[in-house]
Amino acid sequence: MNADLHCHSFVSDGTLSPEALAARAKANGVDLWALTDHDEVGGQQRARDAALAAGLPWLSGVEISVTFLDVTVHIVGLGFDPEDAALHAGLVATRGGRTQRAQDMAAGLEKLGIKGSYEGALQFAGNPELISRTHFARYLVEIGACRDTQSVFRKYLVEGKPGYVPHRWASLQDAVTWITQAGGAAVVAHPARYRFSANEEYALFTEFKKHGGLGVEVVTGSHSSAEAARYAEIAVEFGLLASRGSDFHSPEESHADLGTLPPLPGHLKPVWEALADRVLQAA
Ligand code: AMP
Ligand code: MN
Ligand code: MN
Ligand code: MN
Repeated sequence: MNADLHCHSFVSDGTLSPEALAARAKANGVDLWALTDHDEVGGQQRARDAALAAGLPWLSGVEISVTFLDVTVHIVGLGFDPEDAALHAGLVATRGGRTQRAQDMAAGLEKLGIKGSYEGALQFAGNPELISRTHFARYLVEIGACRDTQSVFRKYLVEGKPGYVPHRWASLQDAVTWITQAGGAAVVAHPARYRFSANEEYALFTEFKKHGGLGVEVVTGSHSSAEAARYAEIAVEFGLLASRGSDFHSPEESHADLGTLPPLPGHLKPVWEALADRVLQAA
């Protein structure tokens, strides 16, 4: 099964429309697809309609920003009811701090002489409620501050750099509960990215399970093959289902394209098998 259950459209910080992503997934041989915009389900109906029209089996998706032990952790939700009211309210609250944060980021950059970056970043945001560091990165590339978005992150937008503003996102318990109560499966996204100590990581997976979390991304565009092997072990140790997703954002910026990752290790239980009754496909 070529499942790709993690990517972004211009409804968050991707550059393509939900329709273009569905077509790209189909063309790349994906046979189960989810669009997982950050903190937002506004693209789900378009994704579903485009997937069904293309004959591409589809699951609902979202990627929720969480603060755990003062670190930003991402929790992917799959196969939930996209109309669920409590999930909507939770996502509205999670998005709510982004505008102020972006203005504070712009103030930090202004001290370096970079003017107007809030307005500049907004021009790259398809959804102004979802202004993100990625939009700042694109703007800073446009004005020639760096040659690519990766360099912008390294130089300006990660912890300790002038455009970085600490932010408190949703709690782990809230995010897992919103997804689960809406009928979906919660999955820890790209765990190798967080650079937790072994004890901190143990705490993350223990609490995640306690609150009803079901899965972990093992194969993702953010993991090396060694990291995938490590989180395959974690999946077994914690009794978690395994997920796979490219985290594709843009043809220009993303190194992993939709549907091109290696398969999950064969001994793991895929999260999509537990979600078979939530998959929508054309009759
Ligand atoms: P935000 O939610 O505003 O903090 O933005 C987070 C997004 O920035 C992530 O979802 C990635 O798309 C992007 N991102 C984070 N770190 C990096 C990095 N080092 N290089 C490129 N993009 C990054
Ligand atoms: Mn992103
Ligand atoms: Mn993420
Ligand atoms: Mn993502």
